[in-house]
Amino acid sequence: MEATWQQVDKFLEGLLAPDEPVFAAALAAAEQAGIPNIQVSAMQGQLLHILARAIGAQRILEVGTLAGYSGIWLARALPAGGRLVTLEAEPKHAEVAQANFAAAGVADRVELRLGAALDSLPALLPDYAASFDLCFLDADKANLPAYFEWAHKLTRKGGLIISDNVIRGGEVVDGQDANSTGARQLLQALGTNGNSTAIQTVGNKGYDGFALTIVA
Ligand code: SAH
Ligand code: MG
Repeated sequence: MEATWQQVDKFLEGLLAPDEPVFAAALAAAEQAGIPNIQVSAMQGQLLHILARAIGAQRILEVGTLAGYSGIWLARALPAGGRLVTLEAEPKHAEVAQANFAAAGVADRVELRLGAALDSLPALLPDYAASFDLCFLDADKANLPAYFEWAHKLTRKGGLIISDNVIRGGEVVDGQDANSTGARQLLQALGTNGNSTAIQTVGNKGYDGFALTIVA
């Protein structure tokens, strides 16, 4: 099945991905720097971009920058004057991401904050309480429930919180590692109030999925 998922993703990318060199360039720079190939797929990046545009997002928060690939998709959805704040703990990742943002022509819209997200998130509260339109949670999954709580405080009513990689090849159901446990605890905390869903995905990044929450 994996081979089919990859083949179909390639087919979809050929039909639907913008024919623009910035994305391939960002991936190539990441690979050259030895950064792990764990960013969103092109179609997933495009989903983030479309969701941001659909809700008219002007302020976006990302937790887990890596090399800036998903950040470029998100930043390109912003109108003039819009802002992406993205949090990253690893200095090497931040450095490559910063260069990728500049090369993609979005550096003026992106504010990268270096440090552990659990330190950076509280520091955002004075300036950004209830003010992000969209949050993309994509750092370590062990702390995902805590990231979600902060994101909830930082997102406006009607805004979206997207929590990535919560299916983990099915490990979310009973896996005992820290990431599976974090993803499971997040899903357990989201509750049955009708504001959250979770979607399983397959593709060139294997079998995973994301949770989507509207802030009520
Ligand atoms: N959003 C990126 C992928 C992020 S990968 C994309 O799709 O393009 C996860 C990133 O989270 C890695 O760069 C890792 O260094 C970072 N990270 C891990 N733990 C973190 C923490 N506690 N605080 C901030 N960033 C963290
Ligand atoms: Mg991810």
